Amino acid sequence: MGTVQDVRIAKRTGFCYGVREAIDKAKESAAAGKSTHTLGQVVHNDGVVRELQDLGIQTVEALDDVDHGAAVVIRAHGVRPDVLARAEARGLEVIDGTCTWVIAEQRELRKLVDEGYTIVLLGTPNHPEVVGLLGFAPDVIVVDEEPEWDAAIPRRKKLALISQSTQPPWKFEKLAAMMVSRSHELKIVNTVCPVTIRRQEDTVELAREVDLMVVVGGRSSANTKELTRLCEIVGTRAIQIQGVADLTDAAVFAKARVVGVTGGTSTPIEDLRDVVRWIYANAGTSAIAADAEALADAALAGAATPAGRTTSLPTPGRVTASGAA
Ligand code: SF4
Repeated sequence: MGTVQDVRIAKRTGFCYGVREAIDKAKESAAAGKSTHTLGQVVHNDGVVRELQDLGIQTVEALDDVDHGAAVVIRAHGVRPDVLARAEARGLEVIDGTCTWVIAEQRELRKLVDEGYTIVLLGTPNHPEVVGLLGFAPDVIVVDEEPEWDAAIPRRKKLALISQSTQPPWKFEKLAAMMVSRSHELKIVNTVCPVTIRRQEDTVELAREVDLMVVVGGRSSANTKELTRLCEIVGTRAIQIQGVADLTDAAVFAKARVVGVTGGTSTPIEDLRDVVRWIYANAGTSAIAADAEALADAALAGAATPAGRTTSLPTPGRVTASGAA
């Protein structure tokens, strides 16, 4: 038997509201009996994509894969404006799940273009949100890691800085400071999403209380990697996994008494509960391992109010592709 006595979930985890809204919109459309598609995976989480497929919602990579008259859900990251126009021109019902924060970001970017700034966007090249933003400002200079900043950022009279929503705030601030000496006038539009910031704060708070952190999220998810990095900065060992299936060896929890669990913005909070249950059952002390199920539910209840959970819509009778419940 193991040593773990307590497993806690970070307070504000689960899907961010943008992702949750887009998923809910897709579910509502399918429940209304519409042939529903999402343009790209609505979230990079296999379990969620499977659940949507079971509800008859298909993921397509191109608008050409959607039949005339069918519904297409734009995911939270948003798309280039010409994609929206093409969807409408093809006679599709566009259900815009673009997060309100991302819409604000797109609006700000367009304003910067109109005002004549040379614009620097802190973001991950080829990330769908960045690709969408480039549709509003094709000449924007996208920069990501610090070593590339110096060569990429020119000296200009009017420079502006804006960010992809999930970039770490410290990186944005550092880049802003660096850009001060490159311009006569520097306009900074802080579009780092508050949900990202709160999640990082809650993760750090939990990491300070525990012996080991488990960070759950996509391997290539930048916001998940950042959570792992922050845990390590506060001096707490952290392991990053995609989901409970990656936990195969309880030895990783050897000597840990209190374990913390957190997740990226695309990780359903129910996945965190599954991880908690596994830890209790496989690495918990003999006194508590038998109660793993109930303890995991309690950890979930302690982390989020029902309204703050991933699944804001109940999954009623399963709706199949043919619309049968
Ligand atoms: S991280 Fe923030 S901006 Fe991005 S989709 Fe989620 S809520 Fe919206």
